[in-house]
Amino acid sequence: MADSLGQNWKNRDFTLSSISDLSSDDASSPGIARFTSDALQIHPESPQIPLNFDLRTAQILKLGPVQSLCTMEGSDDGKSGSYSTGVSIKFKNEEDCAAFHSAVQQWIKENNVQGNLPNGTLTTSKSKFDEKIESSSAKMYFHYYGQLLHQQNMLQDYVRTGTYYAAVIENRADFTGRVVVDVGAGSGILSLFAAQAGAKHVYAVEASEMAEYARKLIAGNPKLAQRITVIKGRVEDVELPEKADILISEPMGTLLVNERMLESYVIARDRFLTPTGKMFPGVGRIHMAPFTDEYLFIEIANKALFWQQQNYYGVDLTPLHGTAFQGYFSQPVVDAFDPRLLIAPPMFHVLDFGKMKEEELYEIDIPLRFIASVGTRVHGLACWFDVLFNGSTVQRWLTTAPGSPTTHWYQLRCVLSQPIYVMAGQEITGRLHLIAHNAQSYTIYLTLSAKMWGPGAEQGGILQTSSCKLDLKEPYYRMSQPQAYPVAQDQQPQPLVQTQDIHIQSQEFEEPEIMQQLSPNSCAQIDSLMQKI
Ligand code: SAH
Repeated sequence: MADSLGQNWKNRDFTLSSISDLSSDDASSPGIARFTSDALQIHPESPQIPLNFDLRTAQILKLGPVQSLCTMEGSDDGKSGSYSTGVSIKFKNEEDCAAFHSAVQQWIKENNVQGNLPNGTLTTSKSKFDEKIESSSAKMYFHYYGQLLHQQNMLQDYVRTGTYYAAVIENRADFTGRVVVDVGAGSGILSLFAAQAGAKHVYAVEASEMAEYARKLIAGNPKLAQRITVIKGRVEDVELPEKADILISEPMGTLLVNERMLESYVIARDRFLTPTGKMFPGVGRIHMAPFTDEYLFIEIANKALFWQQQNYYGVDLTPLHGTAFQGYFSQPVVDAFDPRLLIAPPMFHVLDFGKMKEEELYEIDIPLRFIASVGTRVHGLACWFDVLFNGSTVQRWLTTAPGSPTTHWYQLRCVLSQPIYVMAGQEITGRLHLIAHNAQSYTIYLTLSAKMWGPGAEQGGILQTSSCKLDLKEPYYRMSQPQAYPVAQDQQPQPLVQTQDIHIQSQEFEEPEIMQQLSPNSCAQIDSLMQKI
C-alpha cells in the first residue's frame, strides 16, 4: 500500500484533527503535517508557529490507529536548552494515519537514513506487520498457533506433510550444504526435514509461543539440532546472521491467501533470500470453476427460515429475515465436494512467490470466463489451490483439488443467493475480486454472468448476472465427505479436474512407504477445521 502513495506524499498535506504540545498544558489545535526535503513540518492553526522535525533525528511513533507522536532532541538555540520537543498528533481517520507513516518510511528509504543511525533513533511503527494487521487479530492468530494441538492437526494432514517431506528429500541436492530459513516454523518440522536433507544451517523463525516447543523438539533430535537455530519473532522483524539459499514455508490458508501469511513469505524473501535463492514452494495457483449444488443452496437458504417465524414467543422475527439470509450467503463454504459438481473446465490464477511484490497480495482481481459443459443452474464458484515445489531434481505439486486426497484445507465455495441458468456451451463470465483486510483475511466480491444464447447473441447482451460479497474470515465449515451425487439426465460425468491437472501432475513418488501415508484422512481432521483461521 505504501507503493500506491507514489510521489504524492511529498506534496501532500495531512490534515490533523488535533496537535497537542507535550511540554505545555495548552489546549490542542487542529492543523496539518507536511513533508519538506529534510523535515516534517507540523503547522497548528493556533498558535500559527510551525514546528520542524528533522527527520534524520526525530522519532515518529505510532501510538494508535489514528494517533502518533513526533519527538526530537532539544535544540541548542538557548531557549529550549536541552529539553526535547514533542507533539501528539491525531488524524481524521486510520487511512490518513497509515498513509502518514508510509510517507515517513518512504522518506527514510529515499534518504537512506535508517542504516546510518543507531537503532531506535528514527522509528516508524514497529513493523510492516503492525501497520497492516489489527493487533487483536494477530494476538488471537499467534495464540492459536502457539498450541500444540493445532500444530498436530497440520502434522496429521499427511497429504500436506508427506508432500513437503517428499519434495525436500527428493530434492536433496537443493538443500545439501545450503543455508535455509523456515518461515513460520511452527513445530519446526520443515526445519528438521531440511536438516535431514543435508542443510548446512537452518534458521527456524516462529512468532508464536510454539517456538519454545520447536526448540524442545529439535533438541530431542540431536543429530539434526546442531544445524538448526530457532529464532522467536516475526519474519518482518527478526535479524538473521546470514542470507539464505532456500526459504521453506507452509504459508497457505484457505483459498491460498487466507491468513495473509503469503505476504510474510514474500517479505522474508526480500529480507533473507539471496538473489539466486529458491523458494519451497515457489508458485501457487488459485483454481476456479462454476458449480451446481442444489442441496447446498437449499441448505444455506433454509438456515434463514428461522427468521420467518411471525410468532416466536409472540414476537415477529421477520424484520431480520433478509439480513439473516444475506448473512448466511456471505459465508464461503468449506468442505470437500464431488468434482462432478463442476459445470465447466476450471481456470487458474498464478501467484509467483519468487517474483511478486508483497503489495500485489493486498488486492487480487481475477477476470473469469468459462464455457458451461452442461445445461444447469449455476450456484456459484468453487475454488481450490495448489503449490509447486520446483526442485532441481523433482517438481512436485501439493494439490487441494476436489477428487484428490482430501487435505485440511478442503475446498472453498462461494454460493450466490441468486443462481443463474446456463445451457451447455454457453459462456459464463465474471470477476473474483479479493481485497485484504486487517483481520488477516479477505473480503471476496464475486460476480457471475451468463451471456445471451441463441438468437440475439450477436448483440452480446448480458442475460443474467448475480453477485455476492463474502468474508473469507468467516467460513461455514460444512463437514462432509466427498459424496457421489446423482448425475442429472443431461449431465454426463466429466472428469473436468483430472483432465486439466494431468499435464501439471509431476512424477510419482519413488518411495512406496510415503505413498502409503498419503491417504485421505478427513475424519482425523475434523478437529482441524478451525486450523487455518
Ligand atoms: N511450518 C509449520 C507450521 C505452519 S503453520 C508446518 O509446516 O507444520 C504457519 C506458522 O507460521 C504458524 O506457526 C505461525 O505462528 C507462523 N507464522 C505466521 N506468520 C508469521 C510471521 N509473520 N512470522 C513468524 N511466524 C509466523
